[in-house]
Amino acid sequence: MYNKNNIFAKIIRGEIPCDKVYEDENFLFFNDINPISKFHVLGIPKSQCADFSDFIIKNNPEIIADFFKKINLVIQKLGIDKNGFKIISNSGQDGGQEVPHFHVHILGGEKIRLRV
Ligand code: 5GP
Repeated sequence: MYNKNNIFAKIIRGEIPCDKVYEDENFLFFNDINPISKFHVLGIPKSQCADFSDFIIKNNPEIIADFFKKINLVIQKLGIDKNGFKIISNSGQDGGQEVPHFHVHILGGEKIRLRV
């Protein structure tokens, strides 16, 4: 069940400001308020998806593929494609997801110490 009052839903509706990196009709990328690396961008679909599985189930393959294309566009925009980066998605309770709107973290600009 999607909670329409989560913080990212409010950012999508423009009720809370964000530092935008890229936006189109389906997706929004913005800087994390509490960055853990030099570049720390969050990427979200604008549609109501609570977590990773919800995003995959609710969307057609073109939208899913486009999200990955847009992640790569942002990576290029940040200029971190050459030196490398990490893409992480925390999903659900065991995954440590805090905001219940599907998102990916793009981390880069320095050596990312976090290891999985
Ligand atoms: P999660 O733990 O759900 O994968 O990550 C949620 C992320 O959202 C955290 O890295 C946190 O710093 C970020 N965040 C939480 N509230 C806000 C906010 O109001 N604005 C922005 N830009 N990021 C937020």
